[in-house]
Amino acid sequence: MPSYDPNNIFAKILRGELPSYKVYEDDKTFAFLDIMPRAPGHTLVLPKAPARNILDVSADDFAYVMKVSQKIAKAAMTAFEADGITMQQFNEGAGGQVVFHLHVHIIPRKAGLPMKPPASEKEKPDVLAEQAKKLAAALAGCTNGSPPSGGAAGSSCGLP
Ligand code: AMP
Repeated sequence: MPSYDPNNIFAKILRGELPSYKVYEDDKTFAFLDIMPRAPGHTLVLPKAPARNILDVSADDFAYVMKVSQKIAKAAMTAFEADGITMQQFNEGAGGQVVFHLHVHIIPRKAGLPMKPPASEKEKPDVLAEQAKKLAAALAGCTNGSPPSGGAAGSSCGLP
């Protein structure tokens, strides 16, 4: 397997060298909207630590990405009035991976609506900006449950 390329497009987004429609960030993960969404609200969740994919990521970093992905999936159910979530994760070209920094796709789904083909259409910037705001707000408000008694707003999301 080739080694991690620090000039991949997601590494540039993580370093702030390229823009993104951010929905969530903490010390170990970063999440932003896919600019060619397969459905409205399609989000990508990345570890900040360099990892090409599941084959070289540390088990702890991957487990944490999955934890954050679950929280984003729950918030996306509310933010996009979804009926379900498709989660995808591709490894190496043969596995369908195109960008070689590990990422998990969270795709909100409506009953009966098929996903668009991968990378078929670039979404309009104002639509992405609005959707990112909506999802970030749902995450910040911890819409997947009430805070535990005495807990701060957002604490029931289980995120730091
Ligand atoms: P894959 O590597 O196959 O899991 O897919 C990479 C994904 O990244 C695709 O769904 C693309 O639409 C998406 N993508 C590519 N460039 C960008 C970008 N600059 N910002 C957000 N998403 C992107």
